[in-house]
Amino acid sequence: MFNPMVAVDISCEFDIPIILPAALYLSSRLSMPEILGYPLSGGGSGGARDDVLLFPEALQKHLRRDVFSSAWFPIVNDCPSDVDNTSYCPGFSGDNTLKLAAHYLEPSADIFAGVNDFPYFGPGDPCEDCIIQRYKIDRDAYQPLLWSLLPVLCPRKGWVGWMNVKEAQTKATVPWDTPS
Ligand SMILES: [Zn+2]
Repeated sequence: MFNPMVAVDISCEFDIPIILPAALYLSSRLSMPEILGYPLSGGGSGGARDDVLLFPEALQKHLRRDVFSSAWFPIVNDCPSDVDNTSYCPGFSGDNTLKLAAHYLEPSADIFAGVNDFPYFGPGDPCEDCIIQRYKIDRDAYQPLLWSLLPVLCPRKGWVGWMNVKEAQTKATVPWDTPS
């Protein structure tokens, strides 16, 4: 399986900033032994390892704010497919919304994986239509928002958006055939 620490390492070692935000996001889902055990170039002192350890804190802080602000986790008690009230579906009731919100705060959750990474809801769960409806909100609104914030969450860079990452990449790009 692809280890995102490789991408962090390559980004820092060869100055390829454009891949750093996504690499740090993917690395934030690794366990501590996986992070600490990865042999980073140059022994990994300072830079790269610090980035990998600090990024999840920034991500979690942001996610906590979103989860508790509840704007992204509204309680929706009606079901889009239950127009005649013939079958019982609780929709995203309080319990189910809480379960989804809690899932987003799990360090191993992959918010960009969408419905494939949703928690198991169990008895009293929302039906497939409800889950798809919820997934569309994530895909169309929440995932793009979070993606736009990845550079901001990168430690030590002072980036405020992807524009800064692109600028850093332009500055970093040295043609391979330039004699040094
Ligand atoms: Zn439903």
